[in-house]
Amino acid sequence: MADGTAYRKKLTDEQYNVLFNKATETPFTGQYDNFFRQGTYACAACGNVIFDSETKFEANCGWPCFYDARPDSVIFYVDTTMGMRRTEVTCAQCGGHLGHVFSGEGFQTLTDNRYCVNSASLKFTPSYVDGVTTPPKKDDDDEEDEEDE
Ligand SMILES: [Zn+2]
Repeated sequence: MADGTAYRKKLTDEQYNVLFNKATETPFTGQYDNFFRQGTYACAACGNVIFDSETKFEANCGWPCFYDARPDSVIFYVDTTMGMRRTEVTCAQCGGHLGHVFSGEGFQTLTDNRYCVNSASLKFTPSYVDGVTTPPKKDDDDEEDEEDE
C-alpha cells in the first residue's frame, strides 16, 4: 500500500481513506459525480494531472467516469478483493488509489474503457475561471456612434 504520510495534512479524512486505505466513497455523493465543467483532474494528494474533462462521460454509476487517462499518469494492478477480479487504478506518482477501470462494457466512447474513480481522489482545476473571463468586446469605436444622442 502506498504511503500517504507526506500528504496526510493536506487531505480530508475521506480523501486520505480513499487514496491511501483504498476506501470507496458512497455512490452518488462525490463532488465530481454529475459535474461536467471544462478543465483537468489531478491526484488530490500529489497533484499529478490524470484526466481531462474531454474524456469524462456519464455512466450513471454514481462515480465520476472517464474513458481514458493521460499517458503514464496511472499504474494498474490486478485487484481480487471483494470476490471480483478488477483492475485497480493508482496514481503513477504517489501510488494513491483512484478507483478501477473496466473494459468492453459497450459505452459509446472512443476506448470503451470506463475509469470509475472516486471524487475524493481527485482535484479539479477549471480551464478558465467562471466570471473572470469576459467575452471578447466588440469593437464599436466607430465615429458613427456619436450620432446616437
Ligand atoms: Zn498522486
